Amino acid sequence: MKLEFLGTNGWYSSETGNTACVFLDTEEYYIVFDAGDGIQKLDKHVTSEKPIYLFLSHFHLDHIYGLHLLSKFRFKQGIKIYGQKGTRNILHRLIKHPFTVALKELPITIEIKDLSEGTHQVPFPVTCKFLLHADPCLGYSITIDGKTVTYCTDTGICENSLELAKNADVLIHECGTKPGFFLEKWPHTNPEEAATLAKSANARRLFLFHFNPMIHATIADRKQAEEEARRIFTNTVAAMDGISTDI
Ligand SMILES: [Zn+2]
Ligand SMILES: [Zn+2]
Repeated sequence: MKLEFLGTNGWYSSETGNTACVFLDTEEYYIVFDAGDGIQKLDKHVTSEKPIYLFLSHFHLDHIYGLHLLSKFRFKQGIKIYGQKGTRNILHRLIKHPFTVALKELPITIEIKDLSEGTHQVPFPVTCKFLLHADPCLGYSITIDGKTVTYCTDTGICENSLELAKNADVLIHECGTKPGFFLEKWPHTNPEEAATLAKSANARRLFLFHFNPMIHATIADRKQAEEEARRIFTNTVAAMDGISTDI
């Protein structure tokens, strides 16, 4: 399976990248995490009619404002969108006039489903749990093609992120704040915390992403975060838009 980062910024797009969107090309499915404006690159990567599953973490705009780009896509297979309870309702209110093209006017079929916390077969196994954030935010762990990929964005360190990351082949974790900084009111994670989590969870690889462009304004800032994290967990990479790797 191939992992590609289409958007690695948090909050807003800048010269360092687009907002959150992560893509997995598996044997039978395309899997996408979040619909920040990095999703604009999706049609470059979807080259067959494998089903497309999009998992939304939460409704902060940096994770969903790429949904207004759905009208750009012509995928015959459509897109299945999954998110926490209320997703169906919220997206029916958002993807319509006067904000954007209405769901029923889109050139592709969109199915939206709500997920409760727990493990689901969608048809591959997906475990989702609430993380620690200013508004409810789901983390995901997916096992597919014999590998486990965990996606934890917009969160402080919590019991659920540890559980989701347990023995993950790849942990994709947010890095919303700088080394040595802690955010309590609007929880995010610094590189040392993410690295400590990866180590405690016995994950194999860690990708830091969702860099706040005000705090990590340059690629050098991301590299510094990577360096700090590597002191604790060697197998860490600071993700950039456009990087890809085989899992
Ligand atoms: Zn965010
Ligand atoms: Zn958020």
